[in-house]
Amino acid sequence: MDDELRRKKLKLVRRLIREGYLRSRPCIKAFLKVPRERFVWPGYEKYAYQDTPLPLGDTGQTISAPHMCAYLIEAMNLDVGMRVLEIGTGSGYQAALLAECVAPSDLNKSMWGHVVSIEIDEELVEFAKRNLSRTGYYNRVTVIHGDGSLGWPPLSNEEIYDRILLTAAAPDIPTPLVKQLKKGGILISPLGRGYLQDLVKVVKDENGRIKKDFLLKVAFVPLRGRWGWRR
Ligand code: SAH
Repeated sequence: MDDELRRKKLKLVRRLIREGYLRSRPCIKAFLKVPRERFVWPGYEKYAYQDTPLPLGDTGQTISAPHMCAYLIEAMNLDVGMRVLEIGTGSGYQAALLAECVAPSDLNKSMWGHVVSIEIDEELVEFAKRNLSRTGYYNRVTVIHGDGSLGWPPLSNEEIYDRILLTAAAPDIPTPLVKQLKKGGILISPLGRGYLQDLVKVVKDENGRIKKDFLLKVAFVPLRGRWGWRR
């Protein structure tokens, strides 16, 4: 990384800490570790450490703003060794941050958790795979081309994941994803249509009951697929 980018990255991290988006040591470490400039669309590298979403070519999709990525990893309360499912891989940047939290680079591989990330757009699947493999995340993140609203494996009723994150706004929490969340697990999703949606946190308690809490207003792209929006 050149000095200019390194300086911008440190400045952004300090700002995200000051603004309260980054709060915990593991999340700050993850943020410092993952090179956002290697996940943005070619030509956008110099904007990698501005706190703004960036377009992913002409796919109509975007890589979320750094403060949102930071907010999400903090809100998910991640721990080393967890299994995480992400719906909407996009660039792969958020998936790399998740991986760095559940499978930190400086920790023995035997303690690593794993991230499964599903993307519906074929071009972005290839883009994300390339980004994740050249930054060393290919063995901590599995990228799958498909409809993430069905979960992974699709429609499995097994409680597989400690954490689930949707990075596209759904009409309601997709039922298959609630089923695949472990007891004690947390699912975070933007819900609703229009420019601003509600980011909600769903917790599944030890009896399998669901509690939903509103976190904040957010702007994500719409979820497609079986539990997504009909066009
Ligand atoms: N997390 C991404 C940004 C996600 S943008 C990043 O870090 O770059 C939201 C993504 O969700 C888009 O790439 C879009 O194609 C994808 N998407 C929308 N509906 C989907 C579905 N049903 N299954 C999987 N991916 C979906």
